[in-house]
Amino acid sequence: MSNIIFGPIHSRRFGKSLGVDLSPGKKQCNFDCLYCELDPAKTMADQDEILSLEDILSAIKSALKQHQDIDFLTITANGEPTLYPYLNDLIHEINKIKGKIKILILSNASTIADPKVQHALLQFDEVKLSLDCATQKCLKKLDRSHNGIDVEKIKAGILEFKSKYRGPLIIEILVVKTLNDTKEEIAKLNEYLLKLQPTRIDLGTIDRPPAFDVKPVSYAELLNISHQFDSALPLYISSRKKAEIKVSNYSSEQILETLRKRPLTQEDIEVLLDKKSQQRFNFLLKEKKIERVETNGVKFYKKA
Ligand code: SF4
Repeated sequence: MSNIIFGPIHSRRFGKSLGVDLSPGKKQCNFDCLYCELDPAKTMADQDEILSLEDILSAIKSALKQHQDIDFLTITANGEPTLYPYLNDLIHEINKIKGKIKILILSNASTIADPKVQHALLQFDEVKLSLDCATQKCLKKLDRSHNGIDVEKIKAGILEFKSKYRGPLIIEILVVKTLNDTKEEIAKLNEYLLKLQPTRIDLGTIDRPPAFDVKPVSYAELLNISHQFDSALPLYISSRKKAEIKVSNYSSEQILETLRKRPLTQEDIEVLLDKKSQQRFNFLLKEKKIERVETNGVKFYKKA
């Protein structure tokens, strides 16, 4: 089955990565998010079109033979990969053959309270979980979760998982205009994330047109939202919307004040600061008024 594997994709952070789709035939998800790039589909608690473990493993083996310089293998799905019933066996088998390659999973976190899912996810080198909402009302409205999925259980499940997991745990928040960009929702997410202390938080918005008529927030709004989170949280603005903003002139004080509120990446610096301000930034860096820190492959600058 050739459509199980996609890529390779090159990225600064992951190097060369291959994707593994655990539901290549159709969307199988327990969410039906308003921002989903796949067509809307009825939510389901379990997959009803299930690939055999052998088919997936043989597709992975032949892809790894073909691409011997892969850095990451990303387990994902047209839908939610943890609904795949043999996920535990799959990761167990992949770990036997992966060599130096790191294995990452992208999940919507809906099943994380399930001990079987936690057991499987503990065997991954890196886990990235979506958490768009801290309240049930938001989860129902934005992620349109399957009946019975409870955001409090998800939050407790992530906390429990984090207490056992030794690898990097990344939380991804996708912000959608008027849905989860309110002060109340962000405050609740902030409160929870301070408890969780994930390795990194990726804050993004809609980058490609979804099936429903929902709107992204601008980069300026994302930056403003990022300031509503505690500055100690390792938050990274991951949206491609960055390209929309115009560079501005920042005094040295303004640069330091901005970094005090929120550490920024090299990309953010290039998006926000004009040439002169970038020179000021470099001077502050040389003077050690700004320091560089690295969190799971992403370099941040913060006020020293
Ligand atoms: S969790 Fe992912 S696949 Fe499922 S509906 Fe949401 S965006 Fe689409």
